[in-house]
Amino acid sequence: MEKAFSQHNHHHCQASAVEQARSLCEKEGVRFTKLREQVFELIWQSHKPITAYQLLDQIKDSDFSATPPTVYRTLDFLLEQGLIHRINSLNAFIGCCHPGDRHTGTFIICEECEQAEEVNNRDIRNVIKSVSDAHHFEMKSYVTEIYGICPQCQSTASEHTSEGNHA
Ligand SMILES: [Zn+2]
Ligand SMILES: [Zn+2]
Ligand SMILES: [Zn+2]
Repeated sequence: MEKAFSQHNHHHCQASAVEQARSLCEKEGVRFTKLREQVFELIWQSHKPITAYQLLDQIKDSDFSATPPTVYRTLDFLLEQGLIHRINSLNAFIGCCHPGDRHTGTFIICEECEQAEEVNNRDIRNVIKSVSDAHHFEMKSYVTEIYGICPQCQSTASEHTSEGNHA
């Protein structure tokens, strides 16, 4: 899987994600139905988290049988299977980069291009675990969402600044 914050052929990301999801569902003995595949593909159309509302809006053009309840159930299924994550602060969904290994995600999210990248890191998990332990709290899950400006948007911004200096 390519990094979100890099120039790359995103069709490869999308195609290999769908391929991976299909074989994982097969392994789990669950059905990767047409609607599930369609919703999953739409989520993977880019590295930008997508809201349920946006998904519904896009899917209704291609599949008239897709209703809000079926799409919400499909999202629940994909979450349960660990194929996608929910970005809580945006109330949006994003494809998981390494499904099959159960984890809760850590994301860096660019405020400029609105893309997100999953950056699961053992150190973050350990810190959160030790904070929970210190409070005798039984941690079940966590999502860490880090906001800022990605390397690509940083370089676009600095190009603009240097152009300004020349003028
Ligand atoms: Zn990509
Ligand atoms: Zn993940
Ligand atoms: Zn960016």
